[in-house]
Amino acid sequence: MTTAIVWFRRDLRLADNPALVAAAGAHERVIPLYIHAPDEEGEWAPGAASRWWLHHSLEALDRGLRRHKGALQVAIAHERAPTGGEGSLEVLRKVIKETGASAVYFNLLYDPAIRKRDAKVRKALEADGLDVASFNANLWCDPWEIATKEDEPYRVFTPFWRNLRTRIDEHAALDEPTPLRLDALKKPVSIDSLGLLPELDWAKGFHEWTPGEEGAQEMLSLFADDAVGHYSEGRDLPARHGTSRLSPHLHFGEISPRQVAERLRAHFARRKNAPDLEPYLRQLGWREFGHHLLWHFPDTPKKNFNKKFDAFKWAKRDAHALRRWKQGKTGIPIVDAGMRELWATGWMHNRVRMLVASLLTKNLRQHWLLGEKWFWDTLVDADLANNAMGWQWVAGSGADAAPYFRIFNPVTQSEKFDPDGAYIRRWVPELRDAPGKLVHAPWEDEAYLKASGYPKPIVDLKATREQALLAYQKSKS
Ligand code: FAD
Repeated sequence: MTTAIVWFRRDLRLADNPALVAAAGAHERVIPLYIHAPDEEGEWAPGAASRWWLHHSLEALDRGLRRHKGALQVAIAHERAPTGGEGSLEVLRKVIKETGASAVYFNLLYDPAIRKRDAKVRKALEADGLDVASFNANLWCDPWEIATKEDEPYRVFTPFWRNLRTRIDEHAALDEPTPLRLDALKKPVSIDSLGLLPELDWAKGFHEWTPGEEGAQEMLSLFADDAVGHYSEGRDLPARHGTSRLSPHLHFGEISPRQVAERLRAHFARRKNAPDLEPYLRQLGWREFGHHLLWHFPDTPKKNFNKKFDAFKWAKRDAHALRRWKQGKTGIPIVDAGMRELWATGWMHNRVRMLVASLLTKNLRQHWLLGEKWFWDTLVDADLANNAMGWQWVAGSGADAAPYFRIFNPVTQSEKFDPDGAYIRRWVPELRDAPGKLVHAPWEDEAYLKASGYPKPIVDLKATREQALLAYQKSKS
């Protein structure tokens, strides 16, 4: 009888899981193993909101495996333990010894620290005589499969997408393998013992989410029924559920882009007036572009993609302003609504992410890394590739980024995308009853502002815009 380990990481699903399908096809028994090894992710170990999600997602995967009369096997790697401890490699070796497994299967991740770790583990296990097989589960195409005519990585999205678009239907999504014969360890640890949940009940507002494969499919069904048909207009309106909200599910690999595209097509297959899915697929293309950039330019989470930007003079770190930005007390309503939505739900609408990032990096001229780190800790969809690309895009230092001199005006943006202020009123209760347009700029009526209890703006939007442009001009010369 042959046994294989399937090393689960951020591929927390049973359907369309190439490593699981291959292992179940080639071996009589499969050990579904999750190794908790945050130290191996360096400074990008999962933040607090991601850990909350991970806890529930592991529980959901465990429930899925129980349908096959098994359970998720959990182990802990303590690479930096003061006593020496063990890393994922040692955990795998122990499991191999205990179970007699002859092969290890896993799905690829593209974060630089994990890539290095995986290469080391693969080399060592192969030297031990194990079969090691890895697969792409979470992208339409591996980042090295798409290149320009000159065989260079892409730096601009539109030609990247044109190329990728021709390839997204190359493979069909895989079914959940059945039968799936599972094996167990003698002493697995519990998911609870990983200590992923916050000690304070700060995540109580996360109840809207259902982490796990089933939750992902439900979210996709909601989107297919209600929103995808109006995605082009609806995706910019933060008061509506006009987007799919699949980002945390995609990040944790509870659903794949292939499954998303197939299910949306199937949903509309026999309907007249099926909506145009292209604008939505293109957004999934941005996710692939982020991974393409991270793979080819692994410094992007820390360093300006555009090196010319290294000459830009950021303002001195302003702890007070940063705190008010994080707390949603900047006195700029759309920005505060976004930051409070983030704190309460672990998620923020894309349009508002751009506005809060613009205020931080342009009006306050604080380095984009400060915002990237805060998002890393508070977003349930915190994703190294997408977060780095998003921040550098807004800051103007990234690949195919918004030019620095295009500075969002949060008041006109708010009037355009939240015209009646429904989003602001929901997240900023001080302004719930603000009359008409005052909801976007309450400082225009001093008496109202005072009575509302809402703070004055921390910056003069016009003056700081001009200062930012001046700093940019100086950095160019
Ligand atoms: P939908 O509009 O339904 O899009 C579907 C999917 O496409 C998303 O789930 C996501 O996987 C992908 N996608 C959509 N827009 C983008 C984009 N601009 N860049 C990359 N992928 C995209 N996204 C993350 O997943 N994790 C992050 O850490 C993250 N940080 C960001 C930081 C900043 C400053 C900015 C401006 C954007 C960031 N984004 C990030 C991108 C985007 O805001 C989210 O992917 C999107 O809001 C998720 O909501 P949704 O699933 O409803 O998106």
